[in-house]
Amino acid sequence: MRLFPIFADLQGRRVVVVGAGTVAERKIRSLLSAGAQVVAGAPEATPGLLQLSREGRITLRQASFEPGWLEGAWLVIAATGDRALNSRVARLASERKLLVNVVDDPELSSFQVPSIVDRSPLTIAISSAGSAPVLARRMRERIESLFDHTLGTLAELAGRYRPAIRQARPDLRRRREFYDWLLDGPVAAALRSRKPDAARELLETALHAPETPSRGGVVLVGAGPGDPGLLTLNALRALNEADIILHDRLVSADVLELARRDADRISVGKLPGEDHDATQRRIHELMRRHALAGKRVVRLKGGDAFVFGRGGEELEFLREQGIPYEVVPGITAALACAAYAGIPLTHRHHAQSVRLVTAHCRDDAQVDDWHALAREKQTLAFYMGAGRLEFLSAQLIAHGRSEDTPFAIIENGSRAGQRVLHGRLGELADAARRHAVKSPAILLVGEVCALAPQLEWFGASIPADEAVVC
Ligand code: SAH
Repeated sequence: MRLFPIFADLQGRRVVVVGAGTVAERKIRSLLSAGAQVVAGAPEATPGLLQLSREGRITLRQASFEPGWLEGAWLVIAATGDRALNSRVARLASERKLLVNVVDDPELSSFQVPSIVDRSPLTIAISSAGSAPVLARRMRERIESLFDHTLGTLAELAGRYRPAIRQARPDLRRRREFYDWLLDGPVAAALRSRKPDAARELLETALHAPETPSRGGVVLVGAGPGDPGLLTLNALRALNEADIILHDRLVSADVLELARRDADRISVGKLPGEDHDATQRRIHELMRRHALAGKRVVRLKGGDAFVFGRGGEELEFLREQGIPYEVVPGITAALACAAYAGIPLTHRHHAQSVRLVTAHCRDDAQVDDWHALAREKQTLAFYMGAGRLEFLSAQLIAHGRSEDTPFAIIENGSRAGQRVLHGRLGELADAARRHAVKSPAILLVGEVCALAPQLEWFGASIPADEAVVC
């Protein structure tokens, strides 16, 4: 090990910073957040440091460096732009056996400041011993995305209850089981849901119960349209922690690939000959069984779970069963497909509203509905319409939408095989047939679709009147 890592308690201890420019200011602010007593000095100081000095939060010497400044210091930081001066400060500090850091100069330093991920009281420090600071920074960014911001609150809670937990669970194995429950289960979930009182109550109840309760629960996660880059950080974290993943067929393999290696992945799509309600009952039963067995279940759905995803019904069921749950939104197909086709869903001149419409159950829909859908200056997004494009365009035209209204059909939105077919409503049915549009595909109708050929940037863009080459 090239460097020995330590975490220093700087509360009330003097740290001398030579330099008062922007780099020094950054160091000083982080020293202040650790409670250090900062003495800084340089002929010129940044407005920020002058302000801190006026507020009495640091001592600022506006003068050239003198060795006497090092008196009474525990640590020294040299942050001047002048290497000769930095080197002199480092030498004088070392003679006095003071640890010194010269910013961005590992050769002159006897200690280095790591990159940190701050979830106080939990802190992760990363160092490459000066060999590759860029790599250390990248690692920090990666780790930063792995841990939720409520982790610090959880660490603090665990710290506060440590003696009580030790007393209530004297046996080591049972204590470990309790900590697993505390860190992975409903207490952590309650903190993520910003319900600190509920978290404390759960902890208290569990502490006084003879057995540690189940840590099972369900996270309803929107997986987005397919490109794994469109997952949220919360979705990624849930996938990292899952024991069981119940996923729809619409969820892409690339997204499933990101989940914890040893999580069980179960496809819960509709079985042949099964009706939708039976599928839904089967899914409910799977969620219930695994959550009650103490598993962390991720219910993973394409797009967003609350947009044509029956997510509401699943939560109603979980609530009835008293199973804890969280919801992570996903990017719904209309938003993703529009973005990946270069179609702004609203536009100051062309569309003041957007409607997300299911192409199912429209046969028996009231005629009024079609009149409303056929109005101008709005964008329509039809989900589940791949097999009914002819019907949809005929209804819109019959109810007054012009045959010249631009449309775009986005097939396999955000995925490697994305195709965007665009043209005028009057030619939609014919074009969809010729180009053999397949599910999953979304139909957008409205003036904004005329922008697709100009703003497209991803995958294949096909004008509706283009001859099909077989
Ligand atoms: N909950 C999902 C929608 C489920 S309904 C969401 O929020 O996106 C399924 C329909 O969504 C499909 O028939 C199709 O119309 C649309 N869809 C989902 N993913 C798509 C994709 N990658 N490209 C195009 N359409 C998609």
